[in-house]
Amino acid sequence: MRMVFIGPPGAGKGTQAERLVKTYGMAHLSTGDMLRAARDAKTEIGVKAERFMSSGALVPDEIIIEIIGQRLAEPDCRGGYLLDGFPRTIAQAEALDRMLAEKKTPLSVVLELRVPEEELFRRLAGRGRADDSSEVIRQRLVAYRKQTEPLLEYYTRAKLLTSIDGLGTVEEIFGRAKAVLEGSS
Ligand code: ADP
Repeated sequence: MRMVFIGPPGAGKGTQAERLVKTYGMAHLSTGDMLRAARDAKTEIGVKAERFMSSGALVPDEIIIEIIGQRLAEPDCRGGYLLDGFPRTIAQAEALDRMLAEKKTPLSVVLELRVPEEELFRRLAGRGRADDSSEVIRQRLVAYRKQTEPLLEYYTRAKLLTSIDGLGTVEEIFGRAKAVLEGSS
């Protein structure tokens, strides 16, 4: 299974992604994790990405597309993968489509985790990561609304999108996600 997991910051995507990759044996491709690792290792990409991440802005498309292109070529991706935090812009989604068309490995499903904005703010304010100060949180939510939400229509047109409610217990939400994946594998 090749899936894209979309949801705003604070939706609980990371928690669900970890369970889904274990259950379905997919590689977990989180661009947020990749960028944080690059930043901590002070690689050239990490140093470039840092100033965007720390202000809540998206890292430029060409950097992300390059990282994902390399990652998708690794052998563990042949058994399927979950893309977590990518694509986040229409340009990234188009680049992904091109890469996958070339490999003849189309996406199986795009899953959206929906959580109302007031709830996101509440959750993020309680999390305490370095990029979780309230101005940065606001910026990340704005970036989601402006740059990532248009993907919902993009993937609806491609007949790939299913949305689930992100309110409830971790177990309840996981059950909803599994029900979608069982229907699309
Ligand atoms: P969140 O916790 O907001 O869901 P992530 O952990 O996925 O965020 O990513 C943290 C930061 O890394 C983002 O705020 C952004 O600066 C950068 N980032 C991650 N993925 C992408 C992407 N696909 N395109 C651009 N920037 C990204």
